[in-house]
Amino acid sequence: PFLHIPGTPLDPIMALFEAYNHDSRPEKLNLVVGVYTDENGSIPILDSVRSAEQEWFAQGKPKNYRPIEGTPGFRRSVQDLLFGEDSEVITDQRAATLQSVGGTGGLKIGADLLKKVLPDAVVAVSDPSWENHRALFEAAGFKVVSYPYHDPQSHGVRFDSMCAFLRTLPAGSIVVLHACCHNPTGSDLSPDQWRMLVDLTGENDLFPFIDIAYQGFGRGLAEDALAVRLFAQAHRDFLIASSFSKSFSLYGERIGAATIVCGDPAVVSRVEGLAKRLVRTNYSNPPTHGAAIVETVLRTPSLRSLWESELGHMRTRIRRMREQLADALDRNDLGGSFQFIKAQNGMFSYSGLSAEHAKTLRDDFGIYVLDTGRICVAALNDGNLDRVVRAITHVVKR
Ligand code: PMP
Repeated sequence: PFLHIPGTPLDPIMALFEAYNHDSRPEKLNLVVGVYTDENGSIPILDSVRSAEQEWFAQGKPKNYRPIEGTPGFRRSVQDLLFGEDSEVITDQRAATLQSVGGTGGLKIGADLLKKVLPDAVVAVSDPSWENHRALFEAAGFKVVSYPYHDPQSHGVRFDSMCAFLRTLPAGSIVVLHACCHNPTGSDLSPDQWRMLVDLTGENDLFPFIDIAYQGFGRGLAEDALAVRLFAQAHRDFLIASSFSKSFSLYGERIGAATIVCGDPAVVSRVEGLAKRLVRTNYSNPPTHGAAIVETVLRTPSLRSLWESELGHMRTRIRRMREQLADALDRNDLGGSFQFIKAQNGMFSYSGLSAEHAKTLRDDFGIYVLDTGRICVAALNDGNLDRVVRAITHVVKR
């Protein structure tokens, strides 16, 4: 049967990542993949994570199966982060959380669940969005459309067009929203725009699916969860996919969560039962290590505050890189200001560079950025910034 399989291309991020890995130039630089690297260009192991791991290993617990949905402590910690401790959603038990295989796994649990309850729904993702959104929802059997988002003129969000488009969707459509640090553009909605979106989705009976892969990388833990909290206050059904890949620097541990919020607490256990069934028939139950680390950090007050300060450090360092990049490019007079880079949030910047610029950066300088012009600002540091600025200046002025 395999003889008939046509070639399947990788998505552009993974394809460029492979090309980067095969590039033998020592000065090569990966600004493609969404990974935070520190001042020295290394992926950090956070001190809070290291301590939690040591504590976990010292306990020497047997490696039993975990519950399908994850441990109560992990699930509660995820909800505390999303909604705020002692929020009404938690005290009223209106949400069910399941541990997932990264944020991607959370999206997949959610997509499979929605296919059961809204089988004919259209899924709307932002234009542009993280490549895997469309692919993942299509793989779950949905028709996927794009709503207007990025405005290349203002380097911001086309909020009016976005709203106008969402109003045309049939009732029961699913809208995928980035809570913060929009990937790939870096442009987020303002608090007022989020409030308008809560109303709009309510009035038009649209189902929000919030992807929060960068909580704490934008403005702060609570600030970045504003969208989640506003939707929760509206007492409606919606979904959230969380990722701890970036905020704990635990990429390869594959740790995240799917949280299903219900307007009516009476349905929570049935929804959770269905989600557990979907997990059971997929990978049976989740892995231990990443979840044990996240749970230990979040439930040990000293480690929790250490983690918050380490996360704050990553956030501030990215912001400093944004400022230095924008100012350095502007000093080189490239025919337009790059100050918009400072207003963006999170790891990524839609830099305005073209596919041709990206190709020259790769071919001539070994600097890998996506053809869309997306740059991972979180991979810049004092040691490589000058080189990146010089290379960008060269390709733009050419
Ligand atoms: N959603 C978005 C918007 C992302 O950028 C990413 C990671 N690049 C994910 C989800 C998935 O995260 P994870 O690696 O935890 O699966």
